Amino acid sequence: MKKIIALLFAAILMVSVVGIGLAGGNPATCKHSSCRWVTKKAATCTSAGTEWYTCNSCGKALASRTIAKKAHDLQTTTVSSTCTKDGYKKVTCKICGTTISNETYKKHGHLWNLTGSTYYPLTNITSFSWKCGWCGKTAGTSQFGRPQYAQKPNAYLE
Ligand SMILES: [Zn+2]
Ligand SMILES: [Zn+2]
Ligand SMILES: [Zn+2]
Repeated sequence: MKKIIALLFAAILMVSVVGIGLAGGNPATCKHSSCRWVTKKAATCTSAGTEWYTCNSCGKALASRTIAKKAHDLQTTTVSSTCTKDGYKKVTCKICGTTISNETYKKHGHLWNLTGSTYYPLTNITSFSWKCGWCGKTAGTSQFGRPQYAQKPNAYLE
């Protein structure tokens, strides 16, 4: 019984809410004397929005217009290039994720400086040791004989 009363009460409430909504309100006879712009779809940074010129008393939409797209909310991520890895500067939108620009910084390779050499007469081999002037990585090369010119390690050695 209580449940039925509650349902009845809810039904009466709904009818009265609808009634208030339509107050003053037959669109066919209404003069639409008081209107305002109501947002139907908010604009975002990826799509335009819409608003309707709506009558305050009957609720009829009399006109519609477009709300311009919002600007993207930009953020910049920068990763420097290293001897062996490319870097980048990327501008994206925080809200929709659109990439606005993406600039790549090429890896620049190790800067090998000779730090020592040893000649081994038994094998007739000279070994060279190297150290990168940028990242400090070390590497070794070896050549037959006592070469005038020392072969550097690969510039992009990982
Ligand atoms: Zn109206
Ligand atoms: Zn965006
Ligand atoms: Zn390096």
